[in-house]
Amino acid sequence: MKSIAPKDYICPICLGNKGIESDDTLLKQADLVFKDDLVSVWINSFWIKGNEGHLIIVPNDHYETLYDLPSEVGHRIFEVSKTMSKLLKKVYKCDGITLRQNNEPAGDQHAFHYHLHLFPRYINDNFNKELTKKSYLSESSKRIEFVERLKEGV
Ligand SMILES: [Zn+2]
Repeated sequence: MKSIAPKDYICPICLGNKGIESDDTLLKQADLVFKDDLVSVWINSFWIKGNEGHLIIVPNDHYETLYDLPSEVGHRIFEVSKTMSKLLKKVYKCDGITLRQNNEPAGDQHAFHYHLHLFPRYINDNFNKELTKKSYLSESSKRIEFVERLKEGV
């Protein structure tokens, strides 16, 4: 596929995956929940009010969209999404999980490296309403709390 990223795009997810913290990425190494040979799981930097601490699963290598993702990596992402969904249920005590994956700007993709969102859901939460508002940048210290809880919950 033709690249959809702006020219000279510095991929913030690749920086995180490579262990680089800089002004070009919001990912902090302390936000990493899980990593294997193909995929990494991060606490997302931007949160939805009422559904805090949601995860993104990303390939370790750079693929912009679902269209570019090798099936082997996609299969691993699927497996890890099941494991992580169960972990969120156990640790956050959420009532459900919503997966969301955006492709291209018209599909609400903002970071041009494939990522699958896993949102903890609660009965009577305001998720769909909050999602249409602007998500907010979480504090690093708050993200670390969620990472620690998840690592303890494994
Ligand atoms: Zn990337």
